Amino acid sequence: MTLVERRHLEPQTGTAFVIQCGQLLRVVDPTGEQVSDLISFSAADHSEWLSSGRTIDYANTIYLTTGHTLYSNRSRPMWTIIDDTVGRHDFLLTPCSPETFTIIYKTTAHHPSCFENLWRNLASFGIAPDAIPTTLNVFMNVVVLPSGELQILPPRSRAGDYLLLRAEMDLVVGITACSAELSNNGTFKPIDLEILTDDPVETQKDPRRRSGRPQSDERAARASE
Ligand SMILES: [Zn+2]
Repeated sequence: MTLVERRHLEPQTGTAFVIQCGQLLRVVDPTGEQVSDLISFSAADHSEWLSSGRTIDYANTIYLTTGHTLYSNRSRPMWTIIDDTVGRHDFLLTPCSPETFTIIYKTTAHHPSCFENLWRNLASFGIAPDAIPTTLNVFMNVVVLPSGELQILPPRSRAGDYLLLRAEMDLVVGITACSAELSNNGTFKPIDLEILTDDPVETQKDPRRRSGRPQSDERAARASE
């Protein structure tokens, strides 16, 4: 894999960018126990967005991990999870918002939030706040009790853990280092991002390609077998 771009998110911040079809996004928790809210829109048509509902329907689980496809509201693949060193992420809860803090936390002063960090960064792509749906809450540890009650536990991620996703279409991506106390075991930490290209030589199963042998030699080698 070749690194295209690296971005560092300070605690309680966010960013937005375009990723091309086939490129990879690695979301890294550099210090541990930090959630990152991720949303995406088709770069060609922003009314196609990452859908929690469609994704959970087709995966038939709320716990998404390596091998799962993340779908759009039009049931088209947006992402594939390529690797996951944690195995616990949430796709049930919306990004924390100013109202999250007034309704749940009973705070009165302004509190940074994923929703605000998403819409402020996505605005430059012409995406309005009302267009932001449920986010994939990377590293967020939500447990459903038999009663149906949700329990938000500290993330299982340790320093250096990551989620690696492949973009299945050109996407506008918004992503944060989450601002909610409950989701992050009480403290706010950074998130690191890497945009990568998959090296086709590295992924080729034929070992002769890895040796860098020209294709004509390869054909000759096959013919002599
Ligand atoms: Zn948040």
